Amino acid sequence: MGGAIDLGKILGVNVRIEMTVLLLAAFIIVDGFGARGTSGLLDSATFAVLFIFCIYLHEMGHAFGGWLFGIRTLDVTLTFFGGYARLVGVPRGSFQNVVVSFAGPAANLLIAGVLYWYSANVDGTSYVVSRLAFANLFLGIFNLLPGYPLDGGHIAAAILSNFMPPGRARLVTGYIGVGIGILLIGLGLQSGLGGTFTMLVGFMLILAASQEIQTNSGGRF
Ligand SMILES: [Zn+2]
Repeated sequence: MGGAIDLGKILGVNVRIEMTVLLLAAFIIVDGFGARGTSGLLDSATFAVLFIFCIYLHEMGHAFGGWLFGIRTLDVTLTFFGGYARLVGVPRGSFQNVVVSFAGPAANLLIAGVLYWYSANVDGTSYVVSRLAFANLFLGIFNLLPGYPLDGGHIAAAILSNFMPPGRARLVTGYIGVGIGILLIGLGLQSGLGGTFTMLVGFMLILAASQEIQTNSGGRF
């Protein structure tokens, strides 16, 4: 849905921004407005831009992980639901899979670590810095949950495939993905506008995970 702006090559990787990112920014800004009123508008807008930049760094983490194994990244696209990196090759074996999948969340955990260190050592940490630190910690941990299509789902499937057929491993992470999606919708139902976004993410997860289940269960779904 919507067009995409091509930013060209940055660090050897094409970067594309879907127009729907504006909707994500709007969600964040309106949410900040709801929480802190007009005084929070500038902070929320600054946070939105930096947060979307951190999503970009997450995807570049995957690109870096691929690069370690000689896998080129065609492009990184930022969307309403975050982003995705398209790697030209496929990671080989479970170790490469784990490293490439983990490199995205690792970027967010690294940013969170730096920002928390900064907050602890520099006086008068701003609202934006502390919110960005928390958001990155959350992004890192959330993406490591072991359900498809999250990075943690890919990691779990790669590890499980050492002990069971890969199809069954992907079936397991598919079911966990559906479970996480249902949980998110439940959480989203209990809060305001931020809750709407949480619910949308939940629906997206269930859709993708159901497809994964269907693919790996011989069409019984
Ligand atoms: Zn990722």
